[in-house]
Amino acid sequence: MKKICILYTGGTIGMTKTEKGYAPKPGYLRQKMETIDDLYHDSFPAWDMIELSPLLDSSNMTIREWNRVADLIGENYDAYDGFVVLHGTDTMAYTASALSFMLENLAKPVILTGSQIPLSEIRSDARDNLIASILFAAEGRVNEVCLYFGGRLMRGNRTTKYSADGFGAFRSPNYPYLADAGIDLRYSDMLLNAPSKGAFAVRRLESVPIGVIKVFPGIQFELFASIMTEKLKGIVIETFGAGNIPGHGDALLPIIKKAAANGTVIVVCSQCPQGRVVLGAYETSSALKAAGAVSGGDMTTEAAVAKLYYLFSCGCDAETVKAKMEADLRGELTEA
Ligand code: ASP
Repeated sequence: MKKICILYTGGTIGMTKTEKGYAPKPGYLRQKMETIDDLYHDSFPAWDMIELSPLLDSSNMTIREWNRVADLIGENYDAYDGFVVLHGTDTMAYTASALSFMLENLAKPVILTGSQIPLSEIRSDARDNLIASILFAAEGRVNEVCLYFGGRLMRGNRTTKYSADGFGAFRSPNYPYLADAGIDLRYSDMLLNAPSKGAFAVRRLESVPIGVIKVFPGIQFELFASIMTEKLKGIVIETFGAGNIPGHGDALLPIIKKAAANGTVIVVCSQCPQGRVVLGAYETSSALKAAGAVSGGDMTTEAAVAKLYYLFSCGCDAETVKAKMEADLRGELTEA
């Protein structure tokens, strides 16, 4: 019988109402899970659950928790067939992206899930998300970090939270869903990452100083000049469309030049969830290219942020980080 390790980090799935709103409560989710017969059915995979402490609303997730989850997967890697990470939806796409890089040469399923309504409440989506994620983890057909939500299995580092209140809370705008949970669990085999042949290892992340700037009409770039110090290792700029910035492409130049002089890696992503950045396609993006910015291609901002943390934590110098940001490491981007 397959054996699954559930890592419970927090999130709505196990929350209960308090005077200040929903919050996680130690032991509560396990108590509720014990009332679900399906989880103890003869034909259901065996599972153990490790509850992290403190349980968090995922808005409070930091690199420390990412390292903790990755370490726990590392410590339990040989003892289980797959892993399910129960997580709040708000930053689940960031954690999924981070784990996809941190878990090097992964050859087992790691499925992140959660819910929009707590397991203990009526009409909760938690039951299906939990049960289907355990089944996907036990089938062992994926060898990568995935996110399961609302009937769909997605590559984790391609996801973004799309809806604050719908049951289909996540989308994978630039990569098709890996599998559907209908009457059967139906995979698109061609889309899955091949199992890695190298030795599995956990790469812990360091708290690398990085930033994200979202451009908007009328943005006063000088206001951002003060964050462009030599301390800043990398910055993701969320631009319009295919990589365009306001001011005929020149307004950002003083701060971009400052960043380049300081050795900060500048990565250009798009505010459009779907499609890719092509630097130099328009006059308004040529300046970024000329200043040495790299294209995030069709990567999500979540994946770009996680990848910057990862590459700098691997000890890569700025030139190597730039080259790798444009290369596909874990299926997070479609190379140009
Ligand atoms: N604020 C919650 C969290 O991210 C939302 C959720 O889980 O749906 O932990």
